[in-house]
Amino acid sequence: METTVLSHNLCLTNTLTRKKEAFEPLHSPLVGMYVCGPTVYGDPHLGHARSAVTFDIVFRYLRHLGYKVRYVRNITDVGHLEHDSDEGEDKIAKKARIEQLEPMEVAQYYANRYHQFMDRMGVLRPSIEPLASGHILEQIELVKAILAEGFAYEVNGSVYFDVQAYGKSFPYGKLSGRVLDELLATTRSNLASQEEKRHPADFALWKKAQAEHIMRWPSPWGEGFPGWHTECTAMSHKYLGTPFDIHGGGMDLTFPHHEAETAQCQAAYHQSPCRYWMHNNMITVNGQKMGKSLGNFITLEEFFTGKHPGLAQAYAPMTVRFFILQAHYRSTLDFSNEALQAAEKGLQRLLQAKPALERIKPAATSQVSEPVSEIERKCYQAMDDDFNTPVLIAHLFELARLVNAGADNKADFTEGDLASARKLYTVFVEEILGLEAAGEDSRLSGRMEGVMEILLDIRAQAKARKDWATSDLIRDKLKAAGITVMDGKDGASWKME
Ligand code: ZN
Repeated sequence: METTVLSHNLCLTNTLTRKKEAFEPLHSPLVGMYVCGPTVYGDPHLGHARSAVTFDIVFRYLRHLGYKVRYVRNITDVGHLEHDSDEGEDKIAKKARIEQLEPMEVAQYYANRYHQFMDRMGVLRPSIEPLASGHILEQIELVKAILAEGFAYEVNGSVYFDVQAYGKSFPYGKLSGRVLDELLATTRSNLASQEEKRHPADFALWKKAQAEHIMRWPSPWGEGFPGWHTECTAMSHKYLGTPFDIHGGGMDLTFPHHEAETAQCQAAYHQSPCRYWMHNNMITVNGQKMGKSLGNFITLEEFFTGKHPGLAQAYAPMTVRFFILQAHYRSTLDFSNEALQAAEKGLQRLLQAKPALERIKPAATSQVSEPVSEIERKCYQAMDDDFNTPVLIAHLFELARLVNAGADNKADFTEGDLASARKLYTVFVEEILGLEAAGEDSRLSGRMEGVMEILLDIRAQAKARKDWATSDLIRDKLKAAGITVMDGKDGASWKME
């Protein structure tokens, strides 16, 4: 694929420094990106979609700039306990118990569902999608390395990370902006495993499996299972090396998950996991965080079918994608039916630029060559500025306005202008934002073009033999059907109202 880099000055906001930094991967043009994927025990909802779409954009844009990106996104199928804690039932095992299924049956089912819904939303699959349960050996090696460095201890077949010992040499809490002393004072300490921990803020690297625990593996400390945080450190190290370029995830993962990953990586490999941390912000519903525990989360299936009391109608997958992209990834995204309906209209307006482009008849002189190249420059500038998709979309609406003016014979496009505008549309709307007319729609609009050509041909023949009654009848009937026919010196053109 041919790529044009107009201004290659990509900046992204690093969660660690909270500043915009120039993106300079050491192994250029190779980029390693790791994103925390789903825990597969329930249907994907809007929060999953936001994270997947956010890093899909990063993946697509870096590839467009000419980088070779190895994108790793894991699937958590073991070790993620209730309340994101070191206590309670494994989320997948609990669902399996309730549904009378094998835990791996639950994990496979919801991993399949995740893929189906993300595919429909135009999210590209990552380069590697490792499973936590497939990397138990790597996680055991990680725990052994941390023990050997003196930053962990074993109690009754479980291994815990020693946050205080680590805190003497490294700034635990730096990523999430937390202070260790405050953490030690405020961590809940009424849970059983807290009795085993030297300090309440310590977290499990390996947990001893109780008799009822189905998912269990042998280890140097007896039969058990890995702690939630170990998989990402072990698998990112295995596939990307340490440190890799970008670590992504939802903002709710900053603490404890990413703080723990940083500590594990520093303890075992004497390195931070990555050069840049990127976190997408949360979805709110009337200002409240959308989440399962709050009972206000809406699954993607509900969005696509409209079957949820909070939804006024069904929304197409591309509408939901466009809605997500209309907010910058670091801002909260507030859900409302009004906002989604506006996104639906906006998306249609943008997508109609493509058939409108095909209707423009090239002129000999250009009126738009400067505005088109200016829009192109501003599109790159927006993406280079920390993947600012809302600003990019605003510039693409400018392009759509220009194209519509061309289709209405109000602006002259040369062959060269048309080629530039087509390329701009393909690169930014389709390749980078991943927006496409639904398969059915684009097939339909293709047929529509054909039918209109036939009708306008018959009308032109009627006019040629001065059969004004027939030519007016065709024009008026089309008008009644919402299609305006415009007569120009190069023949007739049409547009939908
Ligand atoms: Zn993770």
